[in-house]
Amino acid sequence: MPADRDARSDCLFCQIVRGELPATKVAEDELVLAFHDIAPRSPTHVLVIPKVHIASAAELANDDGPLLGRLFGTIARIAREAGIADDGYRIVSNVGRWGGQTVDHLHFHLMGGRAFDWPPG
Ligand code: 5GP
Ligand code: ZN
Repeated sequence: MPADRDARSDCLFCQIVRGELPATKVAEDELVLAFHDIAPRSPTHVLVIPKVHIASAAELANDDGPLLGRLFGTIARIAREAGIADDGYRIVSNVGRWGGQTVDHLHFHLMGGRAFDWPPG
């Protein structure tokens, strides 16, 4: 594993993965962790992250296919379990400053329980 994917002591989500910061977990396996967003913007607002530190979606490569399959499979399962799958939902991954990224550890927002505008503001 490349060194830039080592856990970061200064990374909020690495700290949650290691149990150093509390989070309300929704799902977990050896590769991914899902937990409720601390400031939800919709009735369902879950963050789904890889346990390994990846700075953003801009750092993903071909070898990450299995990890991405696991992340998106987890998202779909949580959506079904949360009862939002039939009405639909949004999956968002913000990248960089203009993308609105505030935590530099790859995460997918699973948002549902209400309708969303398009395009986003
Ligand atoms: P971003 O702005 O990078 O796309 O998303 C970061 C998300 O992480 C935000 O929605 C924010 O509310 C959430 N967040 C920030 N700090 C914490 C935390 O300590 N715990 C949890 N559960 N969510 C957090
Ligand atoms: Zn991290």
